[in-house]
Amino acid sequence: MILLEGKPAAEQIKLNLKEKVSALLAKNYRAPHLVAVLIGNNGASETYVASKIKSCNDIGFRSSLIRYDDTIPEEELLQKICELNNDENVDGILVQLPLPKHIDDQKVIDTISAEKDVDGFHPVNMGKLAQGKPRFIPATPYGIILLMQHYNISAKGKHAVVIGRSNIVGRPISILLNSNQPYGNATVTVCHSRTANLKEISLQGDILIAALGSPGFVSADMVKPGAVIIDVGISRVDDVSAKKGFRIKGDVSFNEVSSKASAITPVPGGVGLMTIAALLMNTMNAYLQRNNLTKAFFSE
Ligand code: NAD
Repeated sequence: MILLEGKPAAEQIKLNLKEKVSALLAKNYRAPHLVAVLIGNNGASETYVASKIKSCNDIGFRSSLIRYDDTIPEEELLQKICELNNDENVDGILVQLPLPKHIDDQKVIDTISAEKDVDGFHPVNMGKLAQGKPRFIPATPYGIILLMQHYNISAKGKHAVVIGRSNIVGRPISILLNSNQPYGNATVTVCHSRTANLKEISLQGDILIAALGSPGFVSADMVKPGAVIIDVGISRVDDVSAKKGFRIKGDVSFNEVSSKASAITPVPGGVGLMTIAALLMNTMNAYLQRNNLTKAFFSE
């Protein structure tokens, strides 16, 4: 059984990006700049944004964090996004989800310029993805693809079963895996909360992607022997013995499933680390596109 750890793959991507930043600076270009907008004090969001900012700093990207109280009126947030859209020195904008109830997520996503939408959630970018010509692939599905590439796991001709159909994970990863691209060419079945006979379907998965947000949901009896298991779930479960009073659990019952799988991602330490690496890749790509630079720039 291969443990699909995100760390070596993410480190390699970060090192590569760090070298690219050095090459840019050596040619008197500025560094790529990511702006994160964080609203309120959600503990998980705080942690995610802090990791994203730290990773930017590690590789030499410029980063800015804009914080608002969770009472910020929607209009004020939208105005700020427009300002960032027009700021020549900003390459990527991410607004950390979830947002307070009085703010319409979709309005926020639609307002971010599609050219700076490094989360890949804008309808134009989702449309491009669906057409098989992605510009920015949402970070978590992109991270899964990068992880599979790192460990030489091909999806070609396989049956991939995805549990979850959200716009940020389930739907885009299902599109990517069945697309006619080097990372795709799988036959994909997408399961969701209304799927009948889920176990019957999950048992057919050569690749099983669990992205439903239900800790330990996937048990060994739901898994085909030798399957590749990608656990996207991140849930906080109470644990009095843990320092913070909780621990992070994935959607897969790791102990029982790992003995049946050929490869499996740990949680934490798997897909989560790749999500950040993918976000950094998107930010570099946004920078290159906005400055009309091609990847060949780095080999010149
Ligand atoms: P979501 O709540 O938006 O979507 C969950 C999906 O799972 C829905 O499509 C729903 O139909 C399906 N589902 C729910 N219960 C089900 C059931 N019993 N059987 C079958 N399908 C069911 O969630 P999301 O935003 O896609 O996130 C899913 C999980 O992935 C969460 O734990 C989240 O924290 C985690 N996540 C992790 C990363 C990462 O970087 N690792 C990134 C994003 C989300």
